[in-house]
Amino acid sequence: MENVKKVMLTGDRPTGRLHIGHYVGSLRERVRLQNEGDFDEMYIMIADTQALTDNAGTPQKVRDNVIEVALDYLSVGIDPTRVSIFVQSRIPELFEFTCYFSDLVTLSRLERNPTVKAELGMRKFGESIPVGFLTYPISQAADILLFGTTIVPVGEDQAPMIEQAQEIAHKFNITYGEAFVEPKIMLPSSESCRRLPGTDGKAKMSKSLDNAIYLRDDEKTVTKKVMSMFTDPTHLQIDDPGHTEDNPVFMYLEAFATDEHFARFLPEYKNLEALEEHYRRGGLGDVTVKRFLANVLNDVLNPIRARRHELEKDIGKVYQILEEGTAKAREKASFIANIARRKMGILYFEDRKLQEKQQKAYKKLHEQEEALAAYLAKNKKD
Ligand code: ATP
Ligand code: MG
Repeated sequence: MENVKKVMLTGDRPTGRLHIGHYVGSLRERVRLQNEGDFDEMYIMIADTQALTDNAGTPQKVRDNVIEVALDYLSVGIDPTRVSIFVQSRIPELFEFTCYFSDLVTLSRLERNPTVKAELGMRKFGESIPVGFLTYPISQAADILLFGTTIVPVGEDQAPMIEQAQEIAHKFNITYGEAFVEPKIMLPSSESCRRLPGTDGKAKMSKSLDNAIYLRDDEKTVTKKVMSMFTDPTHLQIDDPGHTEDNPVFMYLEAFATDEHFARFLPEYKNLEALEEHYRRGGLGDVTVKRFLANVLNDVLNPIRARRHELEKDIGKVYQILEEGTAKAREKASFIANIARRKMGILYFEDRKLQEKQQKAYKKLHEQEEALAAYLAKNKKD
């Protein structure tokens, strides 16, 4: 397909407030892309329908978090005049295409998805896996494809979902004709930002694991969480040589600390390399490093907290932003949906050509029938 628009789309499940893992994994990238102004269209989706796939029994949790996530977006600097923020459940085209796409994917392909496999393990569904949960990658493909998305900025755990969306676009295009763009993933350049570990040292900071530092945590909470963070278990005495790799405190510093932070809060060290070198050599205590990290995080979070505080004063306005963003998103999704429906040949009422073609076929058939009847009648007489 030529001359495709540059479209960015990404989203979050409203299963909790957003945390610093979301910030470095995706939110910060979105703000950067927004400010660079390279995209023709930008969409951010609050995936409430996807959140229900493993929270069907607690709809209130999902409902409450829609507005929390919207507030988090606006407080990190997403500008609703440049980005359409929308709510997934209000775009019916997404569910129609989830249904068509389900016919293009096999059950074994879904069961092979490594992120879904890991999530199933974490959620302990046992034998009672909701169908909607296993198939959410298909619905996520609809979310991405129905906007003509070219770039999806996400964390590493989302790579299998983007692959699934590419496969579905390809399969649809060769089966019915070209309607969908094959999207590309955009991962943060730094390794530690792609999958920020939890404060407990677990592989991924997650809303569901109680190991997160939230964007709206106050200064005291952030400092307390940082001071009790998991570090290098072999670094018992200050003089012991320490490990910086796989050490969440250093991974957070890699994701957040700038040289300017060193100049302001820890001028004994020029940059992160110098700090890491000392830690590895021995003689640098965890408390010093953690205090520095708490300062850095609070410095990054302060302006975000201040913006949130302002936004919380007028929730009606935030809902209005969501409503307007959703209307814009619906317009785009229904445009692409019509292209795809036409390729599938299912625009029965709108497609005049299809009707005329059918009419002609019947006319021909009737003419043949009449000719045959006349011939038979004539033969009988003779
Ligand atoms: P849930 O446990 O409900 O799935 P989650 O914390 O995984 O919540 P999502 O809404 O699924 O959050 O993911 C939103 C975005 O944030 C995705 O792009 C995902 O890749 C990214 N993300 C989530 N956790 C991290 C993390 N620890 N590090 C980097 N990126 C992350
Ligand atoms: Mg997730």
